[in-house]
Amino acid sequence: MITLAVADDIWSAAWTAGYQHGYEVGADDYGRCVELWLGITRDGLKLPTQDELAKARAYSDEACSRPNCGRCSRCVRAGAAQRNLCRYGSPDFPGVAGAA
Ligand SMILES: [Zn+2]
Repeated sequence: MITLAVADDIWSAAWTAGYQHGYEVGADDYGRCVELWLGITRDGLKLPTQDELAKARAYSDEACSRPNCGRCSRCVRAGAAQRNLCRYGSPDFPGVAGAA
């Protein structure tokens, strides 16, 4: 005959095992989502060097090298510079001086 204390131990052990299994499944899913979101595995992550940062932050009228980006500040700047070159012959908006 199973006593109440033994049944409680069995239930507690089963609950703990189920919780641990669910936690591991969730942690695996979370890890896969993070890797998908980053588009790379954690092994590929590294901090940029100061030279790489300076190169990425350098002022430029050229779009960035990422294919089909069009959204970063360099691409937005390059698009605006192209439009201003067509309209005003200068990459920068001339302001009121150009309108006169
Ligand atoms: Zn870009």
